[in-house]
Amino acid sequence: MSKRWLARSAAVAIACLPALISLEAISTQPAIAQAAVNNLRSIDADAEGQLIFRTDAPPRFEWTPDLGGNYQLTLFDTQLPLNFRTLPPPLSLARFEINRQGNNIVIRLRTRPGSRLEPPVMTAAGLLGLMLPKASLPALTTAPPRLTPLVPNLNPIPQPSVVGLPPLTRPAVIVIDPGHGGRDPGAIGIGGIRETDIVLDISTQVTRLLQAQGAQVVMTRQDDREVDLAPRVAIAQRARATVFVSIHANALSMSRPDVNGIETYFFSAASRPLAQAIQDRMMQFFPDMRNRGVKQARFYVIRQTTMPSSLVEVGFVTGAEDAPRLADPTFRAQMSQAIAAGILDFLNR
Ligand SMILES: [Zn+2]
Repeated sequence: MSKRWLARSAAVAIACLPALISLEAISTQPAIAQAAVNNLRSIDADAEGQLIFRTDAPPRFEWTPDLGGNYQLTLFDTQLPLNFRTLPPPLSLARFEINRQGNNIVIRLRTRPGSRLEPPVMTAAGLLGLMLPKASLPALTTAPPRLTPLVPNLNPIPQPSVVGLPPLTRPAVIVIDPGHGGRDPGAIGIGGIRETDIVLDISTQVTRLLQAQGAQVVMTRQDDREVDLAPRVAIAQRARATVFVSIHANALSMSRPDVNGIETYFFSAASRPLAQAIQDRMMQFFPDMRNRGVKQARFYVIRQTTMPSSLVEVGFVTGAEDAPRLADPTFRAQMSQAIAAGILDFLNR
């Protein structure tokens, strides 16, 4: 070991000392923050039919059952991050709602008659698990015979899980109208995402989901082509549609990334419950997205169609919160389930 090397290493050690101290100080900071604020990343189900609440750290929670089949699960000091994911409301539950309440997340559940929930338990992985009751058989046997689908299943988009979608209890013809197409890409948003692509993907998945529940579904376009507004209405009128749902993504100027959220439009009073049913399901699936509500508007396709009709805006391509979601195929699959569930809720009333 040379004298020179020793001298140099001593100098390095001295130079490192303050750096080491400050590193240590920084590294304890996130640990404290994490203990105070946990994140609920997702809710999904395992193979045993157990709901799994994925959190960063084992959550502090409270389980409050009442005698009427209502249960409340509170996760203390836990937040819903922007990319929070949940499975659709399980069929075996009559209620499944996720809400922020101050620093806590409150999940309200209601069982169906004749079933009950046991308190949640911590799994070996340190996650909270809640065993679901088995879905009741009668609900599964009321589906009407399947009608011939009008859209062939040629597109290799992964089929999202249909857990939780209610079966259609009466014959229905549903027209799904993906906005824009062809020379008209609709709105262009953050990262260059195009409304036409987003709404075609969601519309195609909504169509598949509704077909799987026994509905006859007609799309006004199945690929990236231009369709004028009048032919869209004509398709719905000619098909004697039970309902018409136009699917769009919202946009404002690129200088307003602060504007985000979901809204649904209707024109006639008879269409309002359809818009409300879809909006309710979207908010149930995405409780952390902004609820811009159900509104009346004079959009051509919902004004000219004579059946209950609605125009859905699935989020802002120009919104800093919404754009990354809209670009995410998993979000679009869940959004498709939410819209399909809303349409089924309306038809099954
Ligand atoms: Zn549009």
